[in-house]
Amino acid sequence: MTTHKKPFATIYVDIDGVLADYASQYIAATGAPIEPEDLHSWDSLLELTGTTYEQLRQIQADDGFLDNIELYHHTRSLLAWAESMGDEVILLTAVEEPERARWAARVLPGYELIQGPDKSKYAHPGALLIDDSAKNCHAFKDSGGQVRLFRQPWNLTELHLPFIYLK
Ligand SMILES: [Mg+2]
Repeated sequence: MTTHKKPFATIYVDIDGVLADYASQYIAATGAPIEPEDLHSWDSLLELTGTTYEQLRQIQADDGFLDNIELYHHTRSLLAWAESMGDEVILLTAVEEPERARWAARVLPGYELIQGPDKSKYAHPGALLIDDSAKNCHAFKDSGGQVRLFRQPWNLTELHLPFIYLK
């Protein structure tokens, strides 16, 4: 027996790469002459910008980086879809910095936010995760949740997961 009224009890929505354009912001911070469309995997963000994971952490920690990430133009439509399909919609991000919570409260007010690297612990049969990371989707699915991979240039080769595409 299900206790939720809509198709999903809870929809967990990832922030970076789904609601917020982290890739553009990161590429701009490095000054690399590439576009997010050039990324063929998430790891290629480092490769193509010529930066290391340490530098990524540093750039992300820089004052203003997390505060200035812009929403995609599809973000409001995606959230409206989630609201229509889930009894509750929760923002779920691996980014644990307090700046992220401040950003979410300012840019996406009214949404509960969970910060933590292990998204799979929120999985259950009535839970849906929308994420641009195939790795996160697999872990959530393996833990008993439902998933939609959010299509982005860096996950186009992941053809074996249900997906959402919005442009
Ligand atoms: Mg993401």
